[in-house]
Amino acid sequence: TLFPYTTLFRSDAGTVSSEIVGKYEKKIYDLEQQLEICRSLCSTIEFSALIESILYICMGQMHVIGAAVFIMDALDSNVFMLNNNYSGMDLDPSIAYRIPVNHPLVYAISKNNAVYTLEELVDAMPEGIDIRMISSLHPSLIVPLMFRNHLSGILLLGDRLSVNDDMRFSTYDKEQILAIGSLAAIAINNAALVERSSTDMMTHLKLKYFFVQVLTDKLDLALTQNNPLAVIMLDIDFFKRFNDTYGHACGDYVLQTVAKIMRSAIRADDMASRYGGEEFTLMLTNTCREDAITVADRIRTKIEQYDFCYENLHVQVTISVGVTVFDVHDNPVLSPKVLIDQADQALYVSKRNGRNRVTFADSKIIAEVKLPE
Ligand code: GH3
Ligand code: MG
Ligand code: MG
Repeated sequence: TLFPYTTLFRSDAGTVSSEIVGKYEKKIYDLEQQLEICRSLCSTIEFSALIESILYICMGQMHVIGAAVFIMDALDSNVFMLNNNYSGMDLDPSIAYRIPVNHPLVYAISKNNAVYTLEELVDAMPEGIDIRMISSLHPSLIVPLMFRNHLSGILLLGDRLSVNDDMRFSTYDKEQILAIGSLAAIAINNAALVERSSTDMMTHLKLKYFFVQVLTDKLDLALTQNNPLAVIMLDIDFFKRFNDTYGHACGDYVLQTVAKIMRSAIRADDMASRYGGEEFTLMLTNTCREDAITVADRIRTKIEQYDFCYENLHVQVTISVGVTVFDVHDNPVLSPKVLIDQADQALYVSKRNGRNRVTFADSKIIAEVKLPE
């Protein structure tokens, strides 16, 4: 009985007080808002943008000046971590804002599917459980983000601006934020699903198809904004021999470590992928030839000098690299496939010339690589 609106349109509707009309008008407005929130959250798949959007919506709807959310990493479902996109909260850099999924706090917050003030949460916790980490953030309200009876996240609201001179949350407010929280939980689960299905679980790098899809979008953007876009292809040298000598487990360790080195060398807007077995790609947005070569050579040097140590065995690893750059004037390719092929051909030149080196796709390579008929 969400809407006993017939009461509004009875023949004696003239007697309906303006207070009731106001109440229903607010309800209609809030439902329209929820529809808009739903639309917005459902259309945001990228994790960081989604969290930012959830916090922004919750702050606006609940009139609070800060908000933060603990969520699980899409690739590690053992711990809730405070997401970096928090706003208006004072964090203590000496505290690790992590809540293991088996912490009593998680049970207390999820068991009733209800919101808590800090005092209510303290009361609900078993004796002797330390929740100073949460209390130090001074939340005005703690909201479970529930999806299919599972806790997907913990939302903390910051200080509230007074509404009609009242700082407290009404029962109606609490129902509202719980409803928004459940929409947020659905969106978070969808985004986590996309994250997992587009990621290689061994190296935690993106998979080939996802890389190509994002590259397609970034290439369109680079063309319209007249920015360069670099693609780098990397391949581990003599990896078959390496596996044969040291075993596959050691080979896997090398793949994971190379991936880690690649990840640490790029910016948030860039992307690294495990393109296939022991081949990797990088996409560097708004990056010219010189910078792309610098990044490629920095990664190559780092891997060459890295002390790969597996079960007390020290091994040396090198990679060969090919680099190409989309550029409206010098290399105006329209297809991501052609760009990747150029990097691949440059990589092949690195292999031919002795490995452990970086080659830039020159005009000869560019002329050779054509779109397949
Ligand atoms: P090159 O220097 O010419 O690149 O020689 P290579 O031996 O690295 O090239 P090749 O393509 O002949 O061998 C690639 C090897 O990578 C073969 C395969 O066993 C290994 N490989 C692919 N995927 C994995 C993996 O997931 N784990 C391990 N340990 N090895 C893998
Ligand atoms: Mg190789
Ligand atoms: Mg290879």
